Amino acid sequence: MLVDIDSIILKYNLYNLIDKLSDIPGSTMDKSLNHRAVVLGISRDTMDNMNMLATSQNRLDFLNNVGFSINSYAFLICNNDICEIHNLNDTNMIPFIIKSVSPTITFWVSVEMNDVKNINNLVSHRFNSPFTSRLSPLHNNVHDDTICLLKAPGTTSSDLGKVYNDIEHISTQYISMGADICNITAKFTPETIDHLRKIPVQDTTEIAGAMKIVGNHKEHEKIIYDIEINDESIVKGDNELVEVLNDRYNFHSHPRDAYIRNGVNYAWPSSHDYIGFLKAVFYSKSVFHVVVTLEGIYIISISPEYAGNIEIVKYEYEYIKKLYQIPYNTFKTPEEYIVHVNKLKIFNVIYMSWNNTMEDFTIYYPKTNGGCSI
Ligand SMILES: [Zn+2]
Repeated sequence: MLVDIDSIILKYNLYNLIDKLSDIPGSTMDKSLNHRAVVLGISRDTMDNMNMLATSQNRLDFLNNVGFSINSYAFLICNNDICEIHNLNDTNMIPFIIKSVSPTITFWVSVEMNDVKNINNLVSHRFNSPFTSRLSPLHNNVHDDTICLLKAPGTTSSDLGKVYNDIEHISTQYISMGADICNITAKFTPETIDHLRKIPVQDTTEIAGAMKIVGNHKEHEKIIYDIEINDESIVKGDNELVEVLNDRYNFHSHPRDAYIRNGVNYAWPSSHDYIGFLKAVFYSKSVFHVVVTLEGIYIISISPEYAGNIEIVKYEYEYIKKLYQIPYNTFKTPEEYIVHVNKLKIFNVIYMSWNNTMEDFTIYYPKTNGGCSI
């Protein structure tokens, strides 16, 4: 059964019931915006006995009786969009919880990372998108060794293999989080490579767009994420300038016409590109930015050294802009440029010529709210 916390339990001071519930979450937040309830797992007999009571006062007394027995419980904290499930020890309550709230709600739950049985149960109820965080969407504290899962409205099927790979990937990072940073190993799909390769040749202006993860697979025990262009996100910029988009993974191109106009053979990322990416890291949690050129692909990310301590460069834009201003004829090859630029330490740049863009690459990135997401 579902009992409202603020308008029943606290209002009528059901102190014996409160004693049976540890740490009601969300007590410090703005209660006017959120709804708090507790789901009580009780026996059929207990439920029947309670339903036979004539008045609401009788029922309140019944709930507050020392002998009122609860098998399990979980807390719900909800607003109009999201419902957080806290202290869920018995995932058999999930069908009841799902039925109890509006079908347009997204569920969030955190579960102990090594609690395989409950994780399996949640995944079978279509919870997915695992991540770690110390703060819930509604700003409640989240226990250290837990993994969060989401269930978006209407999720009726999902690729279980993919979800389990996601869980393994996120858990592995938690275990090895000494470095306090997140990482992902990714690969572009062949279709995306074909598409990207044509952009600098065919389009006379800069093109930008977002990329997305479309799946994952395992190669030699390593989980690799498959990256594609998000076709709906593509925008055209001016001749040589397009704003970096605010997505986790994104790209822009350096068109052939700009090489001809500027008389250069290679067009590695400009200092503007680095600053644009850095701002996207702070404001949109960007993970990497791809610069698509005639010679190949440059992938910009934060270096592992800085990913754990990114705040120190937050107001250093002018300094970084100068540091990364590297004229296009400074180096004879992209490889020479890469050796130089990676010595500057703030960013890590991976270069792949068009002959080896099928290889996987590993990117490091800062944690968000003390955790990692994909
Ligand atoms: Zn650029």
